[in-house]
Amino acid sequence: MSEIKFPFEHEEVKGEEKLAAAEAKNEAQLEIVKMPIVENAAYLQSPILSALPWVSHGFGTRTASALSDLSTLKQIHSDLVLVADRPGLLGEGDALVTNRPDLAISIRTADCYPILLADAKNRAIAAVHAGWRGTAARIVQKTIEKMNAAFGTSPGDIYAAVGPGIGVCCYEVGEEVARQFGAARTHLDLASENRMQLETAGVPPQNIEAFGVCTFCDAERFFSYRREKNNPGRMTSFIEIRPKIGPEIKLR
Ligand SMILES: [Zn+2]
Repeated sequence: MSEIKFPFEHEEVKGEEKLAAAEAKNEAQLEIVKMPIVENAAYLQSPILSALPWVSHGFGTRTASALSDLSTLKQIHSDLVLVADRPGLLGEGDALVTNRPDLAISIRTADCYPILLADAKNRAIAAVHAGWRGTAARIVQKTIEKMNAAFGTSPGDIYAAVGPGIGVCCYEVGEEVARQFGAARTHLDLASENRMQLETAGVPPQNIEAFGVCTFCDAERFFSYRREKNNPGRMTSFIEIRPKIGPEIKLR
């Protein structure tokens, strides 16, 4: 596992200049942390999750083919976390958790952030959909609380990968949205916000990874809700506990 740092400071920003400087700094820091991206890969992979032999996962790009037998949600930008026990549509919510092997849990995004979690001790997993509403409602922390309640997960055993979403470069928001994040900002950095929430919940910083990419900027690779307002596609991200039986892992 490579040592990937994702330093972030929550700064008191007052003037416009300071704000611009802080945003430029965040962008620079995001570049340092980015997970490697395999060219032409339909599903991007996190090194930190790939290092767990019992986990199968992927962050879909716009070229990803559809997967079958997924647990899915009707996503409503909430902080609702559901325990997945079967494939198919499980209801309304924005995060799924499970400890069932051979059951792929999934979420769909286009600009919002897909976040995948794995509890290496108890072998439990989570797939989280975090847009600004979910992030403001601390959905990633609520997911960890649900994993704790359902599977005895402790945050120190969690590995987390923050997938591709809209970057601070392109995510301009209005005052009322910015206020949800307690700062006078014009651009939101949801990757960093979620990173901070993971750390606040007790996930070790060295267990957290993020792609330093922007779904809006990279039109070739990603769908973007903001860029393709009329007909945005959705990218599926999934995580699964590999089945224990059988000599070979099934290919997806
Ligand atoms: Zn961008």
